[in-house]
Parts: sequence; structure tokens; C-alpha cells
Amino acid sequence: MWDMLEKLTQLACQLGASDARAIYTTDISVEDDLANLCREPGCENYGLSASCPPYVAGPDGFRKLLNTFKHAVVFKIDVPSEILFSDERRDVFRLLHEIAASIEKSAIEMGCHDSKAYVGGSCKQIFCRDHPDCRVLAENGECRNPFLARPSMSGFGINVLKLKKAAGWMSNKTPRDTDPDAVSMETVCGLVLIG
Ligand code: SF4
Repeated sequence: MWDMLEKLTQLACQLGASDARAIYTTDISVEDDLANLCREPGCENYGLSASCPPYVAGPDGFRKLLNTFKHAVVFKIDVPSEILFSDERRDVFRLLHEIAASIEKSAIEMGCHDSKAYVGGSCKQIFCRDHPDCRVLAENGECRNPFLARPSMSGFGINVLKLKKAAGWMSNKTPRDTDPDAVSMETVCGLVLIG
């Protein structure tokens, strides 16, 4: 299993991730309060796609699913803050979905047929922004982007901060602590359950 996980983390980096790590699923924290934030105070994407609440299984469903997996791959993309707060952010989130879906596909091809990918960001904003509706919700039809779009971690209450800690990406120092000219950075993450 660890050889395969190593290959999947390497794949993530080849596709554009800043780093990727294999973790145990016991390191994944699922919290009802985090999922509730989608509804209250509310996310602008709430209810707009089949990949977001209230149309996903939420924390309870994810906990049940998690019990059937032992390993996961978590990956991140480090992005200058100014990009994440500009229109270019959609390209970053698109890459995030692409990497997640590619890891999932490769894991399935390697024999882990139940592997499932999750990301940050709403697929409605990223892939179906120019369509009035999510086709799955509006027409009970097929997703327009089945090979790319993956569910948002937020709707399941996945604690991304704890994921980053489990991956060893949390540091008390920011680049600005050591270099006042350093560019302020943000991190976006994806998660793939492998099994
Ligand atoms: S059709 Fe669009 S909005 Fe709906 S799940 Fe697929 S990518 Fe997301």
C-alpha cells in the first residue's frame, strides 16, 4: 500500500501540487460545526450544486464512509494571496479539482476501486459558472464534468487545518517573520480517500 501511496503523492506533485502526503484516515477530523457554516452564516454556493450541502451526505455520511478507509492522500497548492483573492482563483481551484480527480482515477486503476476525492471550492463556481443551474439538480441529469468536478470538503465538515497539521504543513513562522519582502501566501488543499 505505501508504495502505491508514494506513487500517488508523486503524481500529485507532477500535476502541479506544491506537496502531497499520505496520511492515516484516523488523522481526518470531521466536525458538525464546520459543515453547519455552509448554511449559517451561509456560503454563496450553498444549494447550488449536487456536490454541496444540502445535497451531500454531510458529516454523518462522511464518518460512516471514513470507517471503511485506512489511508488517504492529502495535497496542497500554495498560492500568493493576491491571486486567491482575484479572478485567477478559479484557475487555482480548477487545478485543485484536476489533481484530485487524477489521483482518484490512478488509485482506482491501481486496484483501489472505492477511492474518492474531495477538494476545496464549489464546482458550480469553477465549472458551471456560465450555466444557470447544476444539471444534476435542475434536470436530474449527468454532471457536465464527471472527470473533473469533485465534492467540496466543507459540506462534510472536514477540518482542513487539522489535515494540514497531519501532513506536517503547519508552521508557526510565516515567510514575513524572516523576510519582510516575502509574498503573502495562502494554501488550498485536496483529499483523496484511498481504498
Ligand atoms: S453539473 Fe456542474 S455544478 Fe453540477 S455537479 Fe457537475 S460540475 Fe458541479
